Amino acid sequence: MTDLDATESILGALIAHPTVSAEPNVALIEHMAERLEASGARVEVFRDASGGKANLWGTIGPEGDGGIVLSGHSDVVPVADQDWSMDPWALTRRDDLLYGRGTCDMKGFIAASIAMAPHFAAQELRRPVHFCFTHDEEVGCLGARQLVPQLEARGIRPSIAIVGEPTTMQIIEGHKGCCEYTARFTGLEGHGSAPDRGVNAVLYAVRYVTRLMELAEELKHRAPRDTPFDPPWTTVNVGRLSGGVAHNVIPGKAEVEWEMRPSQYGDAEFVKEQLAHLVEHDLLPAMRAVSPWADITTEVIGEVVGLEPMTDNAARDLVRELTGDMDAHTVPFGTEAGLFQGMGMSVVVCGPGSIAQAHKPDEYISRPQLQACLDMLHGLRRSLVAA
Ligand SMILES: [Zn+2]
Repeated sequence: MTDLDATESILGALIAHPTVSAEPNVALIEHMAERLEASGARVEVFRDASGGKANLWGTIGPEGDGGIVLSGHSDVVPVADQDWSMDPWALTRRDDLLYGRGTCDMKGFIAASIAMAPHFAAQELRRPVHFCFTHDEEVGCLGARQLVPQLEARGIRPSIAIVGEPTTMQIIEGHKGCCEYTARFTGLEGHGSAPDRGVNAVLYAVRYVTRLMELAEELKHRAPRDTPFDPPWTTVNVGRLSGGVAHNVIPGKAEVEWEMRPSQYGDAEFVKEQLAHLVEHDLLPAMRAVSPWADITTEVIGEVVGLEPMTDNAARDLVRELTGDMDAHTVPFGTEAGLFQGMGMSVVVCGPGSIAQAHKPDEYISRPQLQACLDMLHGLRRSLVAA
């Protein structure tokens, strides 16, 4: 069987697990663990507190630092409300295209990595290859967030990570982060004729938004030099503002949904500290002077760390050598890459399939894309064997 046929067969088994982010993924992770172990990998499965979700960490080659991580997420986006012309949970092949939920984002890369495991295991590798398959990437990189401190606690220090999100095998060296929040304001309702006796939640929400917009301007002056991002600075968007019931009622509740997309480390903390200062020292004291029960809470909807482009990037240099593609790009979508970069690794995003097919009905990946991925991984194998 060719590596490509093996990859297709493995992909079929992966697709049959409907690992939508809201559902457990343990059965899929156990399946992948068995396959990797049968190929000679040392595998550890990290279950979360619920027991229904798990991350997989596998290694082939020597123990020690300096390994190469092949990283993929095991969860997929839902198919509900999508018009599929075939069963999304069974692999359908039409000519060179393989259809099914997750084929492109991103079980195709995982299948190719697993298909390569016997080849990695058959040779004396100078550096370890690691397999890192996580849960809940699509809902805020929850699995990778749990795994990173567990790897650090074990003293595992790989040097390079290739995150196989669909980039049509182009090298991606950067993407912004994405942080989403909902701020909720609780005031004190009252009659519109006596504003001083109530706490107007909408007005405090507006002061919060006003400060956010000032910070958005300040962020423009903090933009890093020579960044490939467009725009180069960290952006802020207020997406939804709601509150109140009628003209003559002091609103007791208000909500602000907002996001920021950091282009560099530090900006998200800067904004959050400034807002916390406003809330603690300005808004809350004023609100509580009228009503001790007044409150402002912030819910973190998701915080995806950005992948910051680096002048020196060993991962980019390696993948350039493997693919022969000298370009490097940025993308407007988030990945787990920034979390690995935060561990001190060099990281690129590079994987088979196009983001244009991700999250869509009739999602597919092409066999030539999978072959290109296998070619890259065979190149990696050769580079890890060569003296
Ligand atoms: Zn993905």
